Amino acid sequence: MSMSTVSISCDLNKTVREHFMRLPQGGKCLVTYIWIDGSGEGLRNKTRTLDSEPKSIDEIPEWNFDGSSTDQSEGSNSDMYLIPVCMFRDPFTLDPNKLVLCEVLKYNRLPAETNRRQKCKKVMDQVKEHEIWFGIEQEYTLFGRDGHPFGWPQNGYPAPQGPYYCGVGANKTIGRDIVECHYKACLYAGIKIFGTNAEVMPSQWEFQVGPCEGIEMGDQLWIARFLLHRICEDFGVIATLDPKPVKGNWNGTGGHTNVSTKKMREEGGFQYIEEAIEKLGKRHTEHIQVYDPRGGLDNMRRLTGYLETSSITEFSAGIANRGASIRIPRQVGQDKKGYFEDRRPASNCDPYLVTEAIARTCLLDEDEDKSA
Ligand code: ADP
Ligand code: MN
Ligand code: MN
Ligand code: MN
Repeated sequence: MSMSTVSISCDLNKTVREHFMRLPQGGKCLVTYIWIDGSGEGLRNKTRTLDSEPKSIDEIPEWNFDGSSTDQSEGSNSDMYLIPVCMFRDPFTLDPNKLVLCEVLKYNRLPAETNRRQKCKKVMDQVKEHEIWFGIEQEYTLFGRDGHPFGWPQNGYPAPQGPYYCGVGANKTIGRDIVECHYKACLYAGIKIFGTNAEVMPSQWEFQVGPCEGIEMGDQLWIARFLLHRICEDFGVIATLDPKPVKGNWNGTGGHTNVSTKKMREEGGFQYIEEAIEKLGKRHTEHIQVYDPRGGLDNMRRLTGYLETSSITEFSAGIANRGASIRIPRQVGQDKKGYFEDRRPASNCDPYLVTEAIARTCLLDEDEDKSA
């Protein structure tokens, strides 16, 4: 059999699948455990049967996996623990089945290298009284299985950027099916999806999650990313979170992070927004280090000071300024209260690292090492 006759899963007969998906489950429940792998970017998952539908996260047992296959441990000491932390409805196999986000612990029950949730949670617990809210704008780019941006001409490039952002029409948008399926899947699962739009580069899209308080931001965004990759799998398309997927005069991909505290949202909140921005300015370099998975190297390709980005080396802030590190939305400038937007996080950032750094810098008067 030649490679070209091998069925690729997205090309399989979905009507046959439908028949089996409608079969009753005999009261059993499928639970898919989802975790972040050793790359700090990739998601892994595996599924097991429970005898009945779990009513809360406490009813879902711990599990384990082979960490030597996910770049998380040595083969000789390979078992890693999966600790369920939050539960969502499964939009693929439907009720009563569940998707469960898990923390990964090592053999000694300490957090795995890329389990950034525990430290984030600790900071969020410390700042609880501030009721810090986040909203992350997750941008991404669709690629075909040929490694080429999805729907781009085989040779050459589409017409220059301009008509694509929030566009409509077969000559302006590529892949809306995926965007709409993902939106519905998020709502079904229980993700606080805020909205979606076509982005500046063709085949580039965005969805937003939030507002979410504290640790919930990271939990929700990781599951929303899982849903995106899983839906793309069905369509035979790949969603990349690379922050600069196409070199040259094409927009990069961000993970703009919107932030507010209770005080910022109240009357006269603008002074607290200014205070937070001032603190962020003093820790620019530290933040850049955790705003992408490679300590700033990924963002170096994206934060050039052009194409609606700021320079990676300089901190700046401004009302309605999309070329600044921090943007204050125009409405917030008028209302004198609300939230601000940190435009520096890359699309492939770990939201636990980003939200932790922001909460720590803006609300805790201490250094990272002191609190560790
Ligand atoms: P942009 O104009 O930068 O494209 P979007 O409309 O894409 O903004 O995204 C706005 C984001 O701000 C959403 O993720 C939303 O959840 C978030 N957001 C709205 N209000 C608040 C708030 N008070 N605190 C924190 N985040 C907020
Ligand atoms: Mn946006
Ligand atoms: Mn955007
Ligand atoms: Mn934005």
